Amino acid sequence: MPLEEYNKKRDFKQTSEPAGEEKSSKGKLKFVVQRHAASHLHYDFRLEMEGVLKSWAVPKGPSLNPADKRLAMMVEDHPFSYRTFEGSIPEGNYGAGEVEIWDEGTYEPLEKTEGKSDDLIMRAELHKESLKFRLHGKKLKGEFALVKIKNNTEGNAWLLIKHKDEYATDSYDAEENTDPDSKVSAYLEEKSGKKKALKSRK
Ligand code: MN
Repeated sequence: MPLEEYNKKRDFKQTSEPAGEEKSSKGKLKFVVQRHAASHLHYDFRLEMEGVLKSWAVPKGPSLNPADKRLAMMVEDHPFSYRTFEGSIPEGNYGAGEVEIWDEGTYEPLEKTEGKSDDLIMRAELHKESLKFRLHGKKLKGEFALVKIKNNTEGNAWLLIKHKDEYATDSYDAEENTDPDSKVSAYLEEKSGKKKALKSRK
């Protein structure tokens, strides 16, 4: 049951996040990056595979600069329907805060094998803990690699790396490539305003 951990962590009477259910898209594999202001701001990078979203939390956000090797902590599988989730997770719940979609699109393995579906190829690469794929997003485009760090004590640390191609840049900041009217940014501003008000009262 790949979604057991996801379901166990959440109380669906309280959070508006979707309950876990396996389901996949027809046609091309999908990916999504959600910007998530929880206890710390991070970006959740999710790849559709075997009917769920394989998920990594990327503290600094994805980068189009091949020199940036972004730490990506693998987290529990999320249901495919999480792909379209945006909104608030109420206080006291797992991941409490605000979620918005930062980028989305389709993806495909870099190395194709005849007679094998993209899903099967990606599952085999996941098993080998080294994924190579091409993203077709609005912000993220071109070739990427996601590789597990060997001998890491925590056991779930990976690196998200941009390959050199026509979409690579020599400087990139995910925060600077965020919609200025973003709900998560408004949420963060409100939160820091409240903190300042509390401090000045003391
Ligand atoms: Mn998250």
